[in-house]
Amino acid sequence: MRCKTCHAKATVEVRHHNAAYCNDCFQEYFLKRVQHNIRAYRMFSPGDHVLLVVSGGKDSLSLWDALIRLGYRVTALFIDLGIEGYSRRSEDKCREFAARTGAPLQTVSAKEIWGLSIPEIARKTRRIPCAVCGRVKRYLFNKCALEGGFSVVATGHNLDDEVASLLGNLLHWQTGYLARQQPYLPSTHPKLVKKVKPLYTLTERECLAYALIRQISYLPEECPHAEGATSITYKEALNHIEAASPGTKLSFLKGFLKHKELFREYDGDVELRECSRCGQVTTEKVCSVCRLMERAQKRDSRTGANANPSL
Ligand code: SF4
Ligand SMILES: [Zn+2]
Ligand SMILES: [Zn+2]
Repeated sequence: MRCKTCHAKATVEVRHHNAAYCNDCFQEYFLKRVQHNIRAYRMFSPGDHVLLVVSGGKDSLSLWDALIRLGYRVTALFIDLGIEGYSRRSEDKCREFAARTGAPLQTVSAKEIWGLSIPEIARKTRRIPCAVCGRVKRYLFNKCALEGGFSVVATGHNLDDEVASLLGNLLHWQTGYLARQQPYLPSTHPKLVKKVKPLYTLTERECLAYALIRQISYLPEECPHAEGATSITYKEALNHIEAASPGTKLSFLKGFLKHKELFREYDGDVELRECSRCGQVTTEKVCSVCRLMERAQKRDSRTGANANPSL
């Protein structure tokens, strides 16, 4: 196999583009794809200050590296979920990357704010950890972005994440989610920062290849709560289809984005207001995170934690 660009010996095969690259040309290809995605959706420009949510995994660290190399102004945010062992190892990887590159990194911890970790909040409110985690992470990255004066929040969601979530939304006809699923979520309120996914056309395998070539030390393990998640089943099913028919994932997502208007009517107009307790944007008088924390803390009379978060 020869590199599509320079004809040297290829090291990475990109089957869905029917191409292969040597290490140097693959990096060029990866950076070009990221740049193309940013420009195609006008996600941000070099003047913007981007807050990148990092987990210590290959995707977010590869994106961090790519954004730095592309010359963007980026600060990373690590959210400490308080998941035993895993959160510590994730943070170590982010700190290691920041120390090696000199790139700025902020951290925020659920336990420090509310006195409870994500698994504790889930236990006390009898919810599954991932449901609590997703909500708290969205809340925190928006809050950190607002308070730090960032114009945009970027996450490391890749093509595999996006198609798994698309398949799940279609299988369960989650029309509201389908109406809102896109790589660019604009700000619909002065206190809601826009959210973008610059890796949305790059596969998990491509992010892994980039991390390996760049010698990025990432955390290879999955969060322990990911075990048995339906998104993993969807990813496995999609991998089978992709192996038999390369390019299916990308055309599935691109086709959906092209026909997204079909779901527009399901993106109901909701009245947004500020939470009377924390000031974050919500559709209710009190936001779902404040209500969640109140319930968790009622069951935790021993901590004396504050239901009103201040970072
Ligand atoms: S697997 Fe669940 S608990 Fe773990 S980081 Fe992901 S959403 Fe959070
Ligand atoms: Zn080459
Ligand atoms: Zn609130």
